[in-house]
Amino acid sequence: MRTNYHTHTARCQHAFGKETDYIKAAIDARYDILGFSDHTPWPFTGGFVSPIRMRIDQLEGYLRTVRKLAARYADQINIAVGLECEYFPDYLSWLEDRLRDERAESRADYAILGHHFDLDEINGAYFGANTSMELARRYARQVIEGMETGLYACVAHPDLFVQRFDAFTSGLAELSREICRASRALSVPLEYNLYGLRKQAQPVKPIGLGYPNARFWEIAVEEGCAAIIGVDAHEPQHLGDPELGMLAKVYLDRLGLRVIDTLEGVAACARSD
Ligand SMILES: [Zn+2]
Ligand SMILES: [Zn+2]
Repeated sequence: MRTNYHTHTARCQHAFGKETDYIKAAIDARYDILGFSDHTPWPFTGGFVSPIRMRIDQLEGYLRTVRKLAARYADQINIAVGLECEYFPDYLSWLEDRLRDERAESRADYAILGHHFDLDEINGAYFGANTSMELARRYARQVIEGMETGLYACVAHPDLFVQRFDAFTSGLAELSREICRASRALSVPLEYNLYGLRKQAQPVKPIGLGYPNARFWEIAVEEGCAAIIGVDAHEPQHLGDPELGMLAKVYLDRLGLRVIDTLEGVAACARSD
């Protein structure tokens, strides 16, 4: 079974292409399930407008558009509509409402935990640029708390927090182990993120360890975690490049990781409505 639950749309302001282009690319690459999980908006205070996600007034249009396309393409592919969300305790009840909304046009069917910022985007540091152990500890603690809420179907790029460090220290290993242990204990799978892998494969490699990080995933094996491969598609071509996914699968199998291909509780729109 070929699946991908991590797909963006142009609404997040840093992804490209129309929804139909993502869907056609997924059909051509023989995906069985395509999950859209664009960066969620949040009810930020003080009129803050994020440059990396849709606005709240775009949410219904996003959900409605994907649901409509799910019905249109139902005989070729199963499409689900979700959101990539941080764990922001101040706004969590807003997310809970979105996941439980009785009206399909304002309900997201699943959330993945992509924890980019320290408790808030307005003042909180970006974890992907961090080189401080104190902030790394905060990342691990917040991701674990996020998993404990039971709201998230998986943890997207769990190893994002090591990307700018230049060495994988014993301190980072310990934090990785804490995240992996919680993932196992709470049965929240970890995502092996192909967008990060793509960045590492570029001719000019970004500074730092990058992600996915081999040491993190060795620890995930030791802790008996389950992993799902996520394309984290920011353009339709990312779905039309099955080779990268296949290489990742071979690598993870060799590592001895338990790779799953479906997320529990995530139903495709056409079946859930
Ligand atoms: Zn992300
Ligand atoms: Zn993403």
